[in-house]
Amino acid sequence: MGFSWDTVQRVWSRQDGLCAHCGKRLVKANYQSGTWGAWHAHHRIPERMGGSHYLGNCVLLCVNQPNCHLYVGHDGNYSNRVVIHREDLPYLQGYDGPYYIL
Ligand SMILES: [Zn+2]
Repeated sequence: MGFSWDTVQRVWSRQDGLCAHCGKRLVKANYQSGTWGAWHAHHRIPERMGGSHYLGNCVLLCVNQPNCHLYVGHDGNYSNRVVIHREDLPYLQGYDGPYYIL
């Protein structure tokens, strides 16, 4: 199970369409598309660690030029699942949490 589209759109508004790490402007139509401006909705706390599918655990990250999804979300290797700390998300604003499924 992942994030609902409603949640993703609310996070889009919260980040003003910018990558939460590098601040690059994303292209809304290029959700997970792999082209320039593409982006990914990512869990701050990985699902396998109890990360929720709620708004506060969702961050939008760019996926190319640079690839914050890979380097911040997966620590450089897609097989890694890492916790993303608040200080690594300078473009994330507003509502925050809950991160864990209670
Ligand atoms: Zn980025």
